[in-house]
Amino acid sequence: MDTKELSEEIKTEEKAPLNFIEKIIEDDLASGKVPNNKIVTRFPPEPNGYLHLGHIKSICLNFGLAQKYGGVCHLRLDDTNPAKEDMEYIDSIKSDIKWLGFDWGENEFYASDYYEQLHEIAIDLIKKGMAYVDSQTPEQVKENRGTLTTPGKNSPDRDRSIEENLRLFQEMGEGKYPEGKYLLRAKLDMASPNINMRDPALYRIKYAEHPRTGNKWCVYPMYDFTHPISDAIEGITHSICTLEFEDHRPAYDWACSIDNIEHAPHQYEFARLNINHFVLSKRKLLNLVNLGIVSGWDDPRMPTVSGIRRRGYSPEAMKDFVNRVGVAKVESVVDYSLMEFCVREDLNKRAKRCMAVLDPIKLVIDNYPEDQVEYFDAENNPEDPSAGTRKIPFTKEVYIEREDFMEVPPKGYHRLYIGNEIRLKTAYYVKAISCEKDAEGNVTVVHCTYDPESRGGETPDGRKVKGTSHWVSAKFAVSGEVRLYDKLFSAEDPGSTTGNYLDDLNPESLVVVKDAKLEPSLAEAKPGDYLQFLRSGYFTPDYDSTPEHLIFNRTVTLKDSWAKQKAKMGL
Ligand code: ATP
Ligand code: MG
Repeated sequence: MDTKELSEEIKTEEKAPLNFIEKIIEDDLASGKVPNNKIVTRFPPEPNGYLHLGHIKSICLNFGLAQKYGGVCHLRLDDTNPAKEDMEYIDSIKSDIKWLGFDWGENEFYASDYYEQLHEIAIDLIKKGMAYVDSQTPEQVKENRGTLTTPGKNSPDRDRSIEENLRLFQEMGEGKYPEGKYLLRAKLDMASPNINMRDPALYRIKYAEHPRTGNKWCVYPMYDFTHPISDAIEGITHSICTLEFEDHRPAYDWACSIDNIEHAPHQYEFARLNINHFVLSKRKLLNLVNLGIVSGWDDPRMPTVSGIRRRGYSPEAMKDFVNRVGVAKVESVVDYSLMEFCVREDLNKRAKRCMAVLDPIKLVIDNYPEDQVEYFDAENNPEDPSAGTRKIPFTKEVYIEREDFMEVPPKGYHRLYIGNEIRLKTAYYVKAISCEKDAEGNVTVVHCTYDPESRGGETPDGRKVKGTSHWVSAKFAVSGEVRLYDKLFSAEDPGSTTGNYLDDLNPESLVVVKDAKLEPSLAEAKPGDYLQFLRSGYFTPDYDSTPEHLIFNRTVTLKDSWAKQKAKMGL
């Protein structure tokens, strides 16, 4: 998608009317269906990994709707699988939501808060003859569930007596049986066209320490049972989830009907966020972490909230992005470049401009006094005059980018070559006169002269130069490591060719510049600062940056070189 198309698309998005969920909510509010006229939504992550970009969409939707319609959004940790869950994940989820700027206030809940209630409901179902303990092996359960085209087969245990069911369920909970030996199932309809209604599992045996309930339980409720009942207990009015749960809606409605709840919650499904060049699945992301392909969940290449934060994306940019994507009922894949477009738009407004030379070559100004230091006022942000200026020191020796000098310039090269004059940003005009080279013929030093009349970047005679280079005083420069990030996957749909997403890793997703030369103000930069290194891109200090070893992460390049490259390749 080129920039023009992108902005066309964006314009139409901006005029977008209410999305379908907003319409439903407005209708429900208008018809008085909502208790106290106060909508209650929830964001229900399972704490088995860090939140990713897809979750941002769900968070913005659920918290955003509550804000827009004066309701509340609960945070519910959906902790029903103790084998995969961890306190580390719970903590990261909470801090990520806060970083995005949302607050659940006192409405922090855990599915495990409802274990007692769920257990009682299960016993009640058994007593009413609506649930039974199944002794089929997991393989038999699967086999007898049937397929989309063939009905399932009733379990031989379906007519077990209520007394026996009660005893077995009790013993399951006492730890008398190994995992997989018994399953508590609802007695619905093994011939239902919807597989999720074919006697869904309610409870399974699991021996694992739960992050919150420890070893208190060895039977755990299943998702399709826990989720609707948790929603009902909390008085959720609009339970919003992704499309893959559409087929679970009858099971959801069934579970909500068990207790004759007055205002049963309703489930609505929307299309999940997919972005090309990314995998958005906690299982796959965990794998990248475990295999050491990335440095952790918060590696700046990870599509996790903690990864993009470390990379220097702002919460505002991400909210803008999910807004532009919109809420739809049909799955689609969003172009990575739309996300980067939003990040650039945001950073252009807020990033402090700085000078940093990533691939330095020394420029000696032969006619500049040896020990002289001049301070120039450099603009912090041309987009925002209120951002003010800062002083940058200028001296006889400065660093410029190696690519800004060519001994033999190709046609159309407007930067420095012998005999050519360029502007050193906010400083002086300089003209190259000679260069020094090492034994291999690489240029090591460029000599030039400056025009003292051109102070500030203009001359009294008004002569023009075509090139402007950024620079850093050699005497005052601070050294730093700069990490240049690119897409983690080079393929648009990782794994689509070989079936293994790891085959599509981009070998150049991280390029480290060991010794960049930075203007002195960058020694003070802190993680969370939004910076632009002139001409190189947007950057932010890494968490591991220290005064002794400065480290900067490239958030995004200034232009979409990928789109250009694709255009060149005719894609
Ligand atoms: P994953 O498939 O990546 O493991 P998940 O769906 O298992 O994610 P949950 O913790 O269960 O993750 O998700 C919490 C909420 O976030 C759910 O309501 C889920 O529908 C929503 N969600 C997850 N992935 C996406 C996505 N890509 N786009 C939008 N919402 C999502
Ligand atoms: Mg899940």
